[in-house]
Amino acid sequence: MNMPGPPRPLPYKPDPPPPPDPRTDNDDNLLYSNNNPEGDPCPICAPDIGRVFAPGTEPHVPRHPNCYCYYVPTKRSPSPPR
Ligand SMILES: [Zn+2]
Repeated sequence: MNMPGPPRPLPYKPDPPPPPDPRTDNDDNLLYSNNNPEGDPCPICAPDIGRVFAPGTEPHVPRHPNCYCYYVPTKRSPSPPR
């Protein structure tokens, strides 16, 4: 159990983020994923979970109250439209 208090300074300085890598940072597609802590994907979103969208074509999340969906960058090709 932690007592409340001011955050302690980090013992080291974090490394700066690496520069963008044009081989991997361009044209990432988006894998529709779900992180519902209760285990079941949202019924509204279930048909799209695991599908891959090109950037700009993905459904906006959250799609409904209590939506746990999010996108993971992927190199996989976009799924065919339904
Ligand atoms: Zn959802």
